[in-house]
Amino acid sequence: MSQRENSLPLVLVIDDDQTVHLWAKRYLSTAGFMLISALNGYEGIEAFKLYLPDIVLIDIDMPGIDGFVTCSAIHELPNGKNTPLLMVTGTEDAERVASSYVAGATDFVVKPVNWKVLIHRLHYMIKASNLLRQLERSETRLSKAQQLAKLGHWEWYFVDETKMYWSDEVFIIFQLIKDDFVPTPANFQTMIHADDRLHVQAAFDEVIKNRTVVNIEHRIVTRTGQQRFVEQQIEMIGSPTDQLAGITGTIQDITERKDHENKIKHLAYYDEITGLPNRTFFWELLSSTLKLAQRNNRSFAVLFLDLDDFKGINDSYGHHIGDLLLKEVSRRLSECLRNSDVTSRYLYQYHDAEIARLGGDEFTVLLNELTHPEDAAIVVEHIQKWISEPIFLENLQIYTGFSIGIAIYPQDGENGETLLRNADIAMYHAKKMGKGHYQFFHDSMNIKAQKRRRMEKYMYQAVANNELRLHYQPIIGAKSGQLIGAEALMRWESPQLGFLPPDDFISLAEENGLIIKFGEWAIREVCRQHKVWQQQNMGHLTIAVNLSGLQFNQASFVPMVEAILAECEIDCPSFLIFELTESVIMADTEKMFNKLWQLKSMGIKLSVDDFGTGYSSLSYLKSFPLDSLKIDRSFIEELPHNQDDAAIVNAILALANTLNLSTVAEGVETDRQREFLENSTCNSIQGYLFSKPMTIDEFYTYWQSKFIE
Ligand code: C2E
Ligand code: CA
Ligand code: CA
Repeated sequence: MSQRENSLPLVLVIDDDQTVHLWAKRYLSTAGFMLISALNGYEGIEAFKLYLPDIVLIDIDMPGIDGFVTCSAIHELPNGKNTPLLMVTGTEDAERVASSYVAGATDFVVKPVNWKVLIHRLHYMIKASNLLRQLERSETRLSKAQQLAKLGHWEWYFVDETKMYWSDEVFIIFQLIKDDFVPTPANFQTMIHADDRLHVQAAFDEVIKNRTVVNIEHRIVTRTGQQRFVEQQIEMIGSPTDQLAGITGTIQDITERKDHENKIKHLAYYDEITGLPNRTFFWELLSSTLKLAQRNNRSFAVLFLDLDDFKGINDSYGHHIGDLLLKEVSRRLSECLRNSDVTSRYLYQYHDAEIARLGGDEFTVLLNELTHPEDAAIVVEHIQKWISEPIFLENLQIYTGFSIGIAIYPQDGENGETLLRNADIAMYHAKKMGKGHYQFFHDSMNIKAQKRRRMEKYMYQAVANNELRLHYQPIIGAKSGQLIGAEALMRWESPQLGFLPPDDFISLAEENGLIIKFGEWAIREVCRQHKVWQQQNMGHLTIAVNLSGLQFNQASFVPMVEAILAECEIDCPSFLIFELTESVIMADTEKMFNKLWQLKSMGIKLSVDDFGTGYSSLSYLKSFPLDSLKIDRSFIEELPHNQDDAAIVNAILALANTLNLSTVAEGVETDRQREFLENSTCNSIQGYLFSKPMTIDEFYTYWQSKFIE
């Protein structure tokens, strides 16, 4: 049982990388965890003994003792076996994964860590381990005698090292026939699962070396090739002061108990047909999502999905087909939410979605961290598109669809029950409109969604009709106070819709792919502008352009840039800075690597935008040819009084320093923020304190005034 049943769950993070601790603090503390940080394995083991945390995150690569050693040391501690140990690995190679499990790890996560997703996983793992502990306790209370009867017993005297004594039960456990088989240590070892042999050997060694009692669980492979789980208690023969005469152990088959535990875990939380989280699990997910949203003041959506015509399909083709359909629909749902070719800072991050089956043909999806609630409509349309493709089941071709209701936290409900009920009501309205429709609970959201569709209509002509604009925001040297460049920020002057900031239209442009055209236009426009500035003596100013992931991921991206440079007659594009977000860079690292190098070799500079908000991996940052990091506005906002943020900013600056990257702080609004940054190693700053983004004429005037200064 958790030592602090009524308090916040306690997470121990063992990692030599300081930034990981900062991220952990930022994400986990706000999500309701208490944190203990250890910078190496030794510290971690000590901290474990001292605090008995509910869960432990262990980095594999650490100086001193590595993560595997740390993990098995903790695993051997009292309570260690009952605590989820999560390994954090840079690469997902099979060997590391296997070694993690051998070391006693419960599971592993791959770096870069997606903290927001991890939070859910931590909650779940803690819950599951508490369940197991309870189970274990009731298990021990079960008649000991009954257990003893199933217990095998063996002895191994060192006078004749080749011989062992096995009780009848040992043969039974190994499924061996007693008269056909000579019990020897070597034979004993062959029964142990190959991947667990080292682990068992280590336990034997420990008994011999420390003369202690050791309990281990491991797998065996029986004569018939079956894999089973056993528990062994191994101890020395003789008193601790005597010479060691041999070792002895009890062995017990615990496969059923394990299966039972797993089944309980699974039954309690997952739906049998689809394997998705069930209603119980859904409520837990919803409540943790709710807590998170409350804490971070964020919005999220509850989608209530109902299959169209499921009853009809069930009635005409039978339950078997009905079940298959549910399976297929769940598969598509997961796939559509997990895989998206759009990697964007705007668009809803798909992997933050939680899917559950409530029962029957009803599903729910939680969309966490929505920046714009109406973006839920984009996801919903995406889902409906995927589901409406024909489904082939045993020679049948079935068409189905989802009617979807959407409730948004907090406006449509402040607690789970209300949100789900309102999503259900909205779904009911959607059903009334016919098949495959969706509705928000609140009508204003439906109007917003309608507006988006109207916007889309006009968007297609925006480039051709020359309706896009770039505004320029100054970037200032932190120490010199001099104007060194500008960030180009897009605006849309629509005759029908009025003047629109990027937050209003870029997510949609990313969804329908128009961002590729828009982005190309922006690059051409800044190149053109650079030529003008050269004539105006402003050629030394850098110009940063924001790139969308979708745009950057086009195979034609680099050739397109080359073509524009040629067309604008630019020989040296070192004024040009491409800003990309972490999530874009980290998405497909291998492809990125090549593309970034191509751009780099052309002389273009590369900058990581909104740094700190995505999930960064040091090793990638190191290997990519980057030039600068832009520290996200959210870290600057509460400077200097917010000490956590100050620590993060300083850590980012230190990191940039070691990686030889320059730094830009964005969103600087106050003199105090500027002072803080001036006194740090930050290279340049950008923000309303100097100026909002300006039209090109305004920017020229600004430059002149600066120049005259
Ligand atoms: P971003 O790249 O993070 O750009 C900075 C945003 O912060 C700009 O908003 C800017 O006006 C705003 N900002 C600058 N200083 C301050 C400040 O001191 N306080 C506050 N509160 N805000 C400040 P904007 O122009 O609305 O752009 C929003 C986002 O739109 C940009 O965020 C960028 O992600 C995207 N965007 C803009 N232009 C383009 C473009 O050409 N292509 C693409 N793909 N995205 C663009
Ligand atoms: Ca930017
Ligand atoms: Ca930014």
